[in-house]
Amino acid sequence: MARRVLIAGFKHETNTFSKLPTDLDAYSARALYVGEEEMRAAYTGTNTEIAGFLDACEKHGWEPVLAVAADATPSGKVTKEAFDTVSGAILDAIETQGPFDAILLQVHGAMVSEEHDDGESALLSLIRAKVGRDMPIGVTHDLHANVTDLTCELADVLVSYRTYPHIDMHETAIKCADLIARMLAGEINPRVWVARGPQLDGVDHGRTTSPGPMLEILDMADMLTGNHGLLSASVNAGFPWADVEYVGPTAIVVADRGNNGAEIAVNALRDELWRTREIVTIELVSAHDAISQARETGKASGPFVIADFADNPGGGGYADSTGFLRAMIEAGVEGAAFSALYDPACVSACQQAGEGAEIELNLGGKCEPSLGEPISASGIVTGLYDGTFKLEGPMSRGLTIKLGPVAVYRVGGIDVVLASRRAQNYDLQFFRAFGIEPTECAILGIKSAQHFRADYSPIASGIAVVDEGGGITSHNFKALDYKHVRRPLWPLDDTGS
Ligand SMILES: [Zn+2]
Repeated sequence: MARRVLIAGFKHETNTFSKLPTDLDAYSARALYVGEEEMRAAYTGTNTEIAGFLDACEKHGWEPVLAVAADATPSGKVTKEAFDTVSGAILDAIETQGPFDAILLQVHGAMVSEEHDDGESALLSLIRAKVGRDMPIGVTHDLHANVTDLTCELADVLVSYRTYPHIDMHETAIKCADLIARMLAGEINPRVWVARGPQLDGVDHGRTTSPGPMLEILDMADMLTGNHGLLSASVNAGFPWADVEYVGPTAIVVADRGNNGAEIAVNALRDELWRTREIVTIELVSAHDAISQARETGKASGPFVIADFADNPGGGGYADSTGFLRAMIEAGVEGAAFSALYDPACVSACQQAGEGAEIELNLGGKCEPSLGEPISASGIVTGLYDGTFKLEGPMSRGLTIKLGPVAVYRVGGIDVVLASRRAQNYDLQFFRAFGIEPTECAILGIKSAQHFRADYSPIASGIAVVDEGGGITSHNFKALDYKHVRRPLWPLDDTGS
């Protein structure tokens, strides 16, 4: 009889500096799929962990049982109701659809809920309480996980992405499931080792788009895997915008319980994380410098792409911070587009005015006015959309994005995409779905930090990353009020060496 494997996903990257709670509506807005039919419809054929788990089941001849898959755009703490509802759906499936031979779980690794500083170990504890310690559990993590000791104790296998921009979700799930297959076959008896240094950030935040510490440490992880007979070695760059004890980068090793080299390997990776902590391969520039660079290089060989790093909704930014967009408007740039500013009130004003109407709006600056006032603008509504589209770029290709009602509003020479929901722009469809052809623009302003490179680099004549103008995903960590992290912690404190 085929082995029965439970598949579930519960993700969130929680920016504890955001005052916007992540509730069930936030999950419904992005992904909240319950049961086989909904999960297969959402994920079959996509570059996601759930699709990877399903393909692994087919490969190993397992019968998959799909419980729930939930994901919300990074923002503030996950509400108790959302945590209890999604974890409850997983526990219900364990109770009512079992017995199971193994569990495959997709999490982010940086979830903070109203009740739990470490959402993942809280979830795993609930699952272990139902299934006991012997049930094989394989877990996948985002590369930006803040991994705790308890999570590593509760999982048998833990594998993280190795790319940033993240383009290996499917592959990561297959690797994880393959190790669970070996465990079920009795070939291996794995456990997870973890090590971390006193650091908030590291390995260039995990960037794998240019030579640097992340690619080097992954080579080292592969070498150690070979030398010590490890089953898997992962490096997590951590998610620094979380004010919790276990914040920061970690080295993770999965090996057979008796493997004497596992601890040596995980500590070597930890030391490398510490040694390279100060290396950052991207230059963070002012809005003024970015726009000047764009004017020198843009258009002739493609659009110049400028990322609004400090207000990246992919890291919990409000997506309505105005500093960078204001700089673009004041500079009088032409042939430009911007996507996407979160402002449901302005979208609704555009809907009421109708396409072609010329109206005045106060753009953005509403979630946290201390980060920048709204922009008083006069412009034309050039398009109205329902905001639902499918990603076509390398990251999560095939996945549906729902921005809610969207309006395109032309201010001077800039087409500004106004959205009713917050989402990081990492796909050209954030323009194309709204009638804007990015390759024909001179300048593209985007709310993103790094993920955009996967789809935008091939068309860009140049790229600049702006870290000014207000936002809760700035690289200037000392400006944030950390209260609960372990101390001392680099770079907040003087850590000596
Ligand atoms: Zn990530």
